[in-house]
Amino acid sequence: MKLDKYRFDGTKKFKISEFDTKAKSLTTDKEMILENSELNLRKLGIMQDRFYAQGTEAILIILQAMDAGGKDGAIKHVMSGVNPQGVQVTNFKVPSSEELAHDYLWRCIKRLPERGKIGIFNRSYYEDVLVGKVHELYKGQNLPERCKSSKIFDERYEQITNFEKYLWQNGIRVLKFFFNISKEEQKKRFMKRIDEKNKNWKLSDSDVKERKFWNDYMKAYETAINKTSTSYAPWYVIPADKKWFARFFLSEILVGTMNDIDPKYPTVTKEKEKLIGQCKEYLVNEDDKIFDKK
Ligand code: ATP
Ligand code: MG
Repeated sequence: MKLDKYRFDGTKKFKISEFDTKAKSLTTDKEMILENSELNLRKLGIMQDRFYAQGTEAILIILQAMDAGGKDGAIKHVMSGVNPQGVQVTNFKVPSSEELAHDYLWRCIKRLPERGKIGIFNRSYYEDVLVGKVHELYKGQNLPERCKSSKIFDERYEQITNFEKYLWQNGIRVLKFFFNISKEEQKKRFMKRIDEKNKNWKLSDSDVKERKFWNDYMKAYETAINKTSTSYAPWYVIPADKKWFARFFLSEILVGTMNDIDPKYPTVTKEKEKLIGQCKEYLVNEDDKIFDKK
């Protein structure tokens, strides 16, 4: 499926007003998309095994969205096909006092995936140029005065792109997804959390109150995406009003990335081959002397 329109790598501008959250033309055949989603999950499972064995690259998936944007469900769905040992999910909440005593990248750096693993950031350092920008949180933080200038966000976009370049150059691929839902769809999902008893726990009054800043958030997303879209860490803006389409989209990009990496099981050296032969002989004959042979 042609998803290029939704990929931002710095070669075109992202205008949020031009992006519909439903992608009607792409979602006419739900059955087919669900089937392709399943297929992608199977492919991912197979490729992740090789990716883990190869152990040279890491993938960092960054998920950003307005509340109820569907990040959690997408993680659950897409990762259902992979070996949990190869995945590490981190949820970034309002920073703790310990986290606030450090620079804003610190808590994220601690959770970067190791080689062979897929790291998922459910929210990320982008919060510091999203909610952080909408509410000018830096003003209340313990930063020296010289760091509290109005240029702080331009500086952060630059720091983020430099950081992501560093990651790319050190074997970590960064994939960034913005689950783009409409304000109406968010309302529907909040209403569901109110109407369905076993969803009540998911509803937070502060999330509902945050709706009045919707336009500010949209502006912050648009700017952040334009300022941090690069070839080495592209943004994908997912039309996310339909959960099943958003999940398919995510799986499609992951499979594409795995194809690009083309992970392979490590080749067996002559020495290892010899050892394997000896192990077999030992297991068949239970003869300790086999390993003494040169
Ligand atoms: P859900 O979609 O289920 O609500 P969630 O990702 O919103 O999941 P929450 O428990 O609501 O999870 O906590 C996330 C909250 O933490 C968000 O409101 C987010 O804006 C806030 N947050 C995350 N990082 C930062 C940050 N660096 N500064 C300030 N607030 C942050
Ligand atoms: Mg929330």
